[in-house]
Amino acid sequence: MQTLRASKCGLSTTQLPAYILDVIDALTKAGYEAYIVGGGVRDLMLGLNPKDFDAVTNATPSQVKEVFGRRCRIIGRRFELAHVYSGRELVEVATFRAPPKRAVTSAAGMILRDNNWGTIEQDFARRDFSINALYYQPRKGIVLDFCHAVDDIKSKTLRLLGDPTVRFEEDPVRMLRTLRFAAKLNFNIDPAILEIFTPEMTQLLRDVSPHRLYDESQKLFTMGHLNRVLPMLIDFGIWRQLFADIKPDITPFIELAAKNTDQRIAIGKTINPAFFYAVLLWKPFLERCDFYLSKGVIPAEARAQAGLDVLKRQATRTVIPRFAETFIREVWEMQTRLLNPKPQQIAALSNHARFRAGFDFLLLRERSGDAQTQEMGTWWDQYQTMSTDEKERAIGQYNRQRAKSRRKAAQEEHLEQQLNAAQTAEIEPLVNEPEPRSRRARKAKQQEDARAQVASTSSSNGSGIGADHPILKRKRVQRDLSQVIFGPTQ
Ligand code: ATP
Ligand code: MG
Repeated sequence: MQTLRASKCGLSTTQLPAYILDVIDALTKAGYEAYIVGGGVRDLMLGLNPKDFDAVTNATPSQVKEVFGRRCRIIGRRFELAHVYSGRELVEVATFRAPPKRAVTSAAGMILRDNNWGTIEQDFARRDFSINALYYQPRKGIVLDFCHAVDDIKSKTLRLLGDPTVRFEEDPVRMLRTLRFAAKLNFNIDPAILEIFTPEMTQLLRDVSPHRLYDESQKLFTMGHLNRVLPMLIDFGIWRQLFADIKPDITPFIELAAKNTDQRIAIGKTINPAFFYAVLLWKPFLERCDFYLSKGVIPAEARAQAGLDVLKRQATRTVIPRFAETFIREVWEMQTRLLNPKPQQIAALSNHARFRAGFDFLLLRERSGDAQTQEMGTWWDQYQTMSTDEKERAIGQYNRQRAKSRRKAAQEEHLEQQLNAAQTAEIEPLVNEPEPRSRRARKAKQQEDARAQVASTSSSNGSGIGADHPILKRKRVQRDLSQVIFGPTQ
C-alpha cells in the first residue's frame, strides 16, 4: 500500500463541495475513519467533473445512523448502505466490506447478500476496478493506493482487481461497468479482461434481475458517451442480453438520437432517460403495429396493443418502470398526432406536456432520413418560433394543403376501387375443380378443406392472435372529439 500526497495527485479540498466535507468531518469527529472513494476521486484526478462523491467508513450503517440521526436512512438488503442528507445533497456512505460468506453466494458464484463488515484492505479487494479503489482523506491530504491505481490512471487502463473471470462471475453487471467506464473515460480495457469477455460470459447477465439491468442501462444512456458505447455493446454481445427483440444494428435514427443525447448532456440540458428506450424500441413497435394492422385491427387499437406487447417483451430483460412506459407510449402516440394533426387541435397539441419529447423524436426521425414524417418535423419546428398571426396563417395554409391532399387521396382511392372492380370481374378462377361424384369422395374433400382451413388460420396467426381474439372484434368507438384533445395513450 502506498500513501500518496493528495496535492501530488492533483487533489485539493477546494475542489470538494461542502456537503462531502461535512460528512467526512462528522464521521471523523465521532471517532471513525472516513474516506472519499470511487468515481469522485477518479474523476477529479482525471480533471473531469465528478457526478457525485461516495464516502466509505469503518462505522457500520447503524453507527452512521447514530452520527447523523434523522439525516440518515439505511437502505438496501443485498448491499446495506447509509444515505446521508447533507444540505440538499445525498451522500452514499458505505461500510468497509469483507469477502462475502459462502452461504450467500449462488451456485454460479454470484454474490446474493453482502453485509459482512471488514477492514479497509478487505474493502479495497472488493472494489471492481483499480481506478475506483483510491481512498482520499481530504483533511489529512492523503490518498491510499493499494494497487498502483495511479499508474493505471496515467496509462488510461481499465483493470479489474483480482481474477477477471471470478469478478465477472461474482457480479455480471461488472461487464456493463467495464464498457461504461471504457467509453466514458476513453480508457483501454486490460487485455486480461478482453480475453475472457466472451459472448458465453455475457450469458451470465441472464441471472441478473431485470430491475438492476434497467438501472444499469440508464447509466449507459446518460453517462454522456452513449454514441461511443453502443457499438461496444454489440461487439461484446451485451446488446443481445439487454435488448432481446431489438436487432443489433445502429440505424441512422438510433445513432442520431445517441449523439443528440450526448450533446444535451454536454451542455447541461435535461434528458428523460426513457427517451432512448422509445428510440430503440421504435422499429419493433412499428413492426408489431403492422402485424396487428394486417389482421384488420383498427389503427388506434393496433398502436395501443403493439406498444403494450413491445414493452412487455423488453421487460423480460430490463423492467421499465410504469411511469417510463407511459412516457414511451405517449411519445409514440404523439407521432401520429404530430404527423396528421387536426387544424383546430394544433395550438392545444403544441402546449401538451408530451409535445416537446414527441416533437424531438419526430425531428430526429426526419433528420435521420425517415420519409414517413412527411417533413412535419420541420413544420412544427418552424411553427414554434412564429408569432400568433403567423401561426394562424400557417394553420390556414396547412388546412388547405390537407384538404387538397385528402381530395387527391379520395380520387385515387376511387380510381383504384374502379380498377379493382373491373379486374375482379375479369379474373376467372385458374382451376375449376369439379365436385366429386361419390359420397365417400365428397366427404374426404370436406375433411381436407377443413384441415386446410385450420392450417391457414394457425399459420397466419403464428405470432400470437387467433381469429377469435377480442382485439379483432373491437369496434371503433364514436367519441365526442370536441371534448377530447389528447387523451392518455390507453
Ligand atoms: P460513477 O461516475 O458512475 O458514479 P462510480 O465509480 O462512482 O462511477 P458507483 O456505482 O457510484 O460508481 O460506485 C461507487 C464505487 O463502488 C465504485 O467506484 C466501486 O469502487 C464500487 N462499486 C460499485 N459497483 C461495484 C460493483 N458492481 N462491484 C465492485 N465494486 C463496485
Ligand atoms: Mg459514484
